[in-house]
Amino acid sequence: MGFSRAARDELARIMPERRCCQLAELAGLAYIDGNLTSQGYEVIVGQAAAARMAFRLLKQLYQPYMEIRVRRRVRFSKHNVYTIRIPNQPRLHRIVGSLRGVHQRYTRKRWGKPCCRKAFLRGVYICRGSLTNPKKNYHLEIVTDSFQQAAVVQSLMETLDLSPGVVQRKKHVALYFKDGEQISKLLNLLGGHTAVLNLENVRVVKGMRNQVNRLVNCETANMDKTLEAAFRQVENIKLIKANGRFGSLPPDLKEMANLRLKFPYASLKELGQLLDPPLSKSGVNHRFRKLDAIAEKIRKEKAE
Ligand SMILES: [Zn+2]
Repeated sequence: MGFSRAARDELARIMPERRCCQLAELAGLAYIDGNLTSQGYEVIVGQAAAARMAFRLLKQLYQPYMEIRVRRRVRFSKHNVYTIRIPNQPRLHRIVGSLRGVHQRYTRKRWGKPCCRKAFLRGVYICRGSLTNPKKNYHLEIVTDSFQQAAVVQSLMETLDLSPGVVQRKKHVALYFKDGEQISKLLNLLGGHTAVLNLENVRVVKGMRNQVNRLVNCETANMDKTLEAAFRQVENIKLIKANGRFGSLPPDLKEMANLRLKFPYASLKELGQLLDPPLSKSGVNHRFRKLDAIAEKIRKEKAE
């Protein structure tokens, strides 16, 4: 199953405990896809999970008489279209009134309790949200039908410390996130804990890959330094030889210098291991500092 569908199905399995949140979630589901017609109230959605959730919430809250229809859309895509209709009946007025009440409050930015805000957002997400497989890239989006709807959802998200981007498509206005941390935060807030775990796993693997890259870069930098030092040492030894001072060097320095000329790319540690008996890295370094000092002295003499 795809990442997006798995996340949606997970969210659609959550039944809020409190009645306030149940109504808020239903209002979220109906926010964009709910309509009052002459025949009653209809919620028309393209996701089975959304249809299931709307049905369950309506049953839980109002026990209305409902009709459910599944239609296979042929012309544009092969997705099914689900219609949940509450035909005209005595309790319809109350249901529509409650849903509109929530929609109006949110439009006026009277947000109410965080528990309900999250439930509303979950309802919107189940209908209109999608998630790209994070292995490809981080992208979560919620598609609305107008700037006004997008603005309400965006403001609601901002009250929960989420900051989505907004983009206009042909017929839609989408809210989106491209930041793994924000996506994780949103899914967590909606209660999609398995989705968060899956996302975090990918994030950890990606993070480790970045870290490995950093280590490799770091090693390259160290390597450059090592090579630079070796190059300077070779230059110094050549200078000592060219000025006829090599013969008068103490045997340990001579040995060191010859080894360096023989292995110009070896590290200090490797050079130390080539000696008999082996010498520590700091011992090797000490000898090279002596050689460097001699070369430096020659340079000064020549400059005078
Ligand atoms: Zn609540």
